[in-house]
Amino acid sequence: MFAQRKSCFLDNHDLIHLAFSGELLTTKEARRRQLTYDKLVSGSKRTSALLVVREHLPSGNACLRINIDATRIGNVARFINHSCDGGNLSTVLVRSSGALLPRVCFFASRDILKDEELTFSYGDAGVNPNGSKCFCGSSCCSGIMPSEHT
Ligand SMILES: [Zn+2]
Repeated sequence: MFAQRKSCFLDNHDLIHLAFSGELLTTKEARRRQLTYDKLVSGSKRTSALLVVREHLPSGNACLRINIDATRIGNVARFINHSCDGGNLSTVLVRSSGALLPRVCFFASRDILKDEELTFSYGDAGVNPNGSKCFCGSSCCSGIMPSEHT
């Protein structure tokens, strides 16, 4: 996905009017699908779009986990690629008044030029040596997509 605003760039901290959308899954179903996706994508360029977000609550004793699978149903946010250097977008959980669950929204983490590819880090979890290959092309690319056992 690429920046297409007519003016020349997005400013640092601009909200990208896009939230990551997909199927909301139970953790049990997310784990089941992750195992299936790992088998399907191993050694190929196919990828899944299962996003697991953990929000640590202020008490420090609990964590809210949200599993969003955009592999089959989702919006264009599922086409935003990963970059090992953190990319040019950051994700922020945004709560609308009255909403139980937050939305995963994207903000520019630096100025973004027109036609520049939009990317963000899929995570910094331990690298699975059998995970999908990363083709981000950044100077700090690990060669493997971030993944973890969900
Ligand atoms: Zn990479």
